[in-house]
Amino acid sequence: MKILILGVNGFIGSHLVGRILRDTTWEVYGMDLGNHKVSEYLGNPRFHYREGDISISKEWIEYHVKNCDVVLPLVAIATPKVYVTDPLRVFELDFEENLRVVRQCVKYKKRVVFPSTSEVYGMCPDAEFDEETSALVTGPIPMQRWIYSTSKQLLDRVIWGYGFRDNLQFTLFRPFNWMGPKLDSLNTAKEGSSRLVTQFAWNLFNGEPLKLVDGGAQRRCFCDVEDAMDGLMSILRNEGGKADGRIFNIGNPANDHSVQDIAERMLEIWKDHPFRLERNIPLSQIVQETSGAFYGKGYQDVLVRTPSIRRMRETFGFDPKIGIKEALRKAIDFFVEEHKAMEKIVETEG
Ligand code: UDP
Repeated sequence: MKILILGVNGFIGSHLVGRILRDTTWEVYGMDLGNHKVSEYLGNPRFHYREGDISISKEWIEYHVKNCDVVLPLVAIATPKVYVTDPLRVFELDFEENLRVVRQCVKYKKRVVFPSTSEVYGMCPDAEFDEETSALVTGPIPMQRWIYSTSKQLLDRVIWGYGFRDNLQFTLFRPFNWMGPKLDSLNTAKEGSSRLVTQFAWNLFNGEPLKLVDGGAQRRCFCDVEDAMDGLMSILRNEGGKADGRIFNIGNPANDHSVQDIAERMLEIWKDHPFRLERNIPLSQIVQETSGAFYGKGYQDVLVRTPSIRRMRETFGFDPKIGIKEALRKAIDFFVEEHKAMEKIVETEG
């Protein structure tokens, strides 16, 4: 099987390539702006990497849509800070650029596996979000945060429509706060625009305060990327066509924690971490911050977000196992290694 992954150097793409090369005989054609997260796979003869931009390398993309069996358009902005500061960039990239790729899948009759998002459920009041019965609840237009949710939701609906009208073979998957190595770069964390775990890791490294936005009582269910990949791989394998024309939440409802709880747990791990002790990094404080100060105007939070994974479990036997303690430990250790590697580069260049 030949798989085209656009955005192969992202969090999901980079882990997926690793899994595909390790567990299958499939060929991967991958494109991205850079390759630092997939550098370890570049020598593999089944991994064909191309440096490129989804909005520029249009011919390369169309050629490979035509020649591959499955297409994963993973290029997207998925960081809340950017939804608020640059909503049009989110729309142009997440919706417009991906729509073009989806239309090529229709044209060449290719299977598309599209990353929807848990964010589409927004402020849905259900205790667990169900793929086909939960309402998708967003906020008013001036709340720019919802540009991501609505862009993704509209593309979900468009893909569904192509399935309905033109028999497009598709699967939509919805990540619920996947976390782990390679989630965000330390650079985005530096400017305060990372997702929670990366942001806190950065703050810890620098002895800076961990900021609880609007109190920190808001909850997320965190899913380790290794568990998430088990789920995504079964969707890609698609045995018996069980993933076709369907939507799947992928998350771990057992790891349901408040932001404050995550801050406390990360602090606890960091307190005795050899890297901190070795470098004498002062232990961070936990402080309060308003969303207006942290994100700017136009931010609205999601207070609870719990997936129903019944469909994944019943269809594929999906059974996420990695608990929050281990997931956080792994994420912190990765950042330590990344930090050390960066220091080495600076030393060599200096
Ligand atoms: N958050 C926080 N402090 C930070 C970063 C994030 O309190 O330094 C909160 C944020 O307001 C949200 C939650 O953590 O309620 C998760 O944020 P994330 O950026 O990971 O993405 P989301 O789950 O909202 O898509």
